[in-house]
Amino acid sequence: MKKRIVVIGGGFAGINLIKNLYALRDVEIILIDKNNYHYFPPLIYQVASSFIEPSNISYPFRKMLQGKDNVRFYQGEFKQVDVEQNIVYTSAGNLHYDYLVFAQGTQTNYFGINSISEKALPLKNITDALRVRNSILCKLEQACKTKDAEDRSKLLTFVIAGGGPTGVELSGMLSEMNKHIRLKDYPELKAFPMQIFLIDAADSLLGTMSKKSQAEALKALAKMGVQVKLSVAVKDYHSDVVFLSNDEQIKAKTLIWVSGVIANTINGLPQTSILKNRRVAVNNYNLVAGTSNVFAIGDICCQFTDKKFPQGHPQVAQVAIQQGTLLGKNFKNILKSKPQASFSYFNKGQMAIINKYKAVAELPIGFFKGFIAWCMWLIIHILPIAGFKNKLKLCYNWLGNFLSNDPTLRLIIEPGQQPEEKN
Ligand SMILES: Cc1cc2nc3c(=O)[nH]c(=O)nc-3n(C[C@H](O)[C@H](O)[C@H](O)COP(=O)(O)OP(=O)(O)OC[C@H]3O[C@@H](n4cnc5c(N)ncnc54)[C@H](O)[C@@H]3O)c2cc1C
Repeated sequence: MKKRIVVIGGGFAGINLIKNLYALRDVEIILIDKNNYHYFPPLIYQVASSFIEPSNISYPFRKMLQGKDNVRFYQGEFKQVDVEQNIVYTSAGNLHYDYLVFAQGTQTNYFGINSISEKALPLKNITDALRVRNSILCKLEQACKTKDAEDRSKLLTFVIAGGGPTGVELSGMLSEMNKHIRLKDYPELKAFPMQIFLIDAADSLLGTMSKKSQAEALKALAKMGVQVKLSVAVKDYHSDVVFLSNDEQIKAKTLIWVSGVIANTINGLPQTSILKNRRVAVNNYNLVAGTSNVFAIGDICCQFTDKKFPQGHPQVAQVAIQQGTLLGKNFKNILKSKPQASFSYFNKGQMAIINKYKAVAELPIGFFKGFIAWCMWLIIHILPIAGFKNKLKLCYNWLGNFLSNDPTLRLIIEPGQQPEEKN
């Protein structure tokens, strides 16, 4: 009988695990993901700002797994696990497993503020990005039509909560849109610029980066007309008003929420393995505390055994990629009951794009800013994109769009109900 490894989630962690399992001919691997595609979160903000197509940064699992006879993909959502019976319950059916790996990442954290979870737009996945894109384009259309000055101002005001890389990158992109697209596509709005606010509760942007990067981002965004407010939290959002912790109010019909993430819930694991922030405690081999055949990798887990990261690793792509890769290699030894290698994170650095031709990069070889950092950013973000054709298409789209300032993706496409869903 072949051993069965079930992997929940085909993000950076899950996919890199599976790539390292292909060679194991004596195991059956089952990947479950709620989407039928793998996607690349760092570039989601470019989809949201109509700069690239969703298909540039996503890739169907079934195509990825073509010819891999020992791997099966089922689209479905994880519901619960029974660690006594070794059964995982999903919307695609219930599966027995010999080994189970959780890699389903995180979801948007609204910090319990209901009005914000109901009214703000999150930006965590491709669906969110398309909703943000539609919303921005619809607001511009409505602004062209309204005769009411206050209504127009609210439609053209975009508030972004969260000054991490996504918030910085998105506000930079919106300011480029204001500078170029508004004038070219919307003659009615020539005299009415968009207002872009970037709000963060911390006293700096790009919290995990160095002071140099933070100062560079702040300077560049201010120059581009983005109104940055630091040490201020977004407290509430209703009646087209964003309420701030310093009692200020911003009238806006759009609040984009990129303030934080929280691990997805895993029902059925021993309570002692779930930490306060919902991350799952794992040992140095990514084995879930209190289990013998259940692993967790990537954003969803927290490991305290790496000497350089005693509080746990940051929730970033490289940690997920490296944990998935190592667990894949370790499985060869797990199946032969041989010793495994402990995980230790190699930090390859951090980067953020600020606007066209400007970025900051903190790499093991040094600090870079401006155009050089921007070129590095493009190269480093092209390499991990799944599929050679996707890499080429993305290069081509970037070249055209950066040079022309006029991408042609500003389509408002709101899928309606499918005929079978109506019944
Ligand atoms: C907008 C954005 C920008 C980012 N930018 C950067 C960056 O520039 N650099 C960087 O290093 N990191 C960045 N990150 C963080 C990085 O994307 C994550 O650290 C990384 O994706 C974690 O990988 P993962 O495999 O653990 O989870 P994910 O990549 O989130 O993958 C989780 C997978 O699980 C699936 N899934 C979720 N729930 C279920 C369920 N219930 N059932 C079945 N499947 C499920 C999802 O569909 C997804 O495919 C960014 C994140 C976001 C959201």
